[in-house]
Order: sequence, then structure tokens, then C-alpha cells
Amino acid sequence: MKKKLIVGNWKMNGSLAANQALLDGLTAGAATAACGVAVCVPAPYWSQVQALLASSAIFLGAQDVSQHASGAYTGELSPGMLKEFGVRYAIVGHSERRQYHGETDEVVAAKTQCALANGVTPIVCVGETLAEREAGKTEEVVKRQLAAVIHANGHCISEIVLAYEPVWAIGTGKTATPEQAQQVHALLRAQLRAASNHADLIPILYGGSMNAANAANLLSQVDIDGGLVGGASLKVADFLAIVAAAQ
Ligand code: PEP
Repeated sequence: MKKKLIVGNWKMNGSLAANQALLDGLTAGAATAACGVAVCVPAPYWSQVQALLASSAIFLGAQDVSQHASGAYTGELSPGMLKEFGVRYAIVGHSERRQYHGETDEVVAAKTQCALANGVTPIVCVGETLAEREAGKTEEVVKRQLAAVIHANGHCISEIVLAYEPVWAIGTGKTATPEQAQQVHALLRAQLRAASNHADLIPILYGGSMNAANAANLLSQVDIDGGLVGGASLKVADFLAIVAAAQ
């Protein structure tokens, strides 16, 4: 069976003291985890978190990455910078980046390409809004978002991590049912299969109000290979319960 992957997205949360306490708990509690575990932390804390995770199996991740390798792009973070701090994963195309920073499908595809070319594994997020779901457009939207990434990345698509995050479930406490999530994961898997012979190896994570209570049911679905966890990744007990559900 494929090893599951649980990724915490701290978003714009944390402090030196809070990070230390959270990671002390996680490194102790996840020491024998049978699944992959990563935390995507704000850039100013990469150095601190790199040191705190040095002797742990938990991977360090970023929450975004530039589509450019270097140059006059004020405020951007290049994949080369991520690599210098041991950052293994970068979330790309999170709905909050698409919504608040105007990231288009093409920008998300270019960021994915730049990350892959520079040895950072992108966690590419796709997902529909509530209005799109209610209009019966879920399939059309997630397929369009993924198609742009496949188009720009060709056979390298097998090296991404994909995350299905229905926007209406992010931070709202409304989780997709396991059946709703599986239905979308299955169609994303089919789209990946049409593009790559290695599609079954691509982890497809579910994200959207995953918590200690619902994780096991979501993770038992055949095409759900892990979770991208926001709010619950900030509490040691909750995040460890999700990690335990992924064993
Ligand atoms: C996220 O930000 O990717 C996320 C899934 O958040 P939450 O778990 O809080 O819904």
C-alpha cells in the first residue's frame, strides 16, 4: 500500500516560541509515524524550523514559491532559496493565493514548473468554490486547473503532489464527505492517468477542515493518499491524531 502523506499548512500563524512548542510536541509524537509528515511554515521561520526538525523525519515545506529562479521580483521567494533551508515541499496555487493574490491557472502551472526544475516538490492545489459546486461545475473547474499544470509540465507531472481542496471546506468546518472527496479524487486520478504512466504514484491529498474526528474516514478512500491540514495542524494533539489516522 502507498505510504500516506500528511502536510500541515500553518498559513500566517506562528512565533518563535509557539513554533518551538508545536514542533517539540510533533517531533516527539510523530517519531514512529508510518506515514510521511511535513509542515509548511511561514518563510521567516524556515531557519528555526530546519534546526528543530534536523533529527526528525518530518519534512519542511513552504507555502508558496516564485515562478522565477531569480531577479527583480520584490517579495518573491525562489526555489533556490527554499533549497538552502532544506525545504522539500512548496504549496502552489492554494485557494488563498488564487483569491487574494490573483494567481491564475497559468501562474500556478509556471510555479509548479519552476519548483520541479529546481528540486522542490510542489503541492499543487485545485478546488471549486461553493458557487461553482452549486452550479454543477466542480468537475469542469478542477479539470481546467489541473490541465494547465499538466500542459506546462508534461511527463514531469508524475513528480508533483496534488491536493484537492474544495474552497468551501477550507477553514469553514464544513468538510466534504468521504464520498464527495473520493468522487473528485477519482476524476483527478483519471486525468493524471491520461497524462502519465506513473499517475498511480502521484499522491492526491484532501484538504478542507480535516480534523481528528473525520480524518480516518476520508483517508480510507481509495484515491485519498493523505491530507493537507490547516487549522488542525496548529494543535499538537489534533495533528498527531490525523497522523495516527493515516497509518
Ligand atoms: C488549508 O489551508 O489548506 C486547509 C485545508 O485549511 P483547513 O484545514 O483549516 O480547512
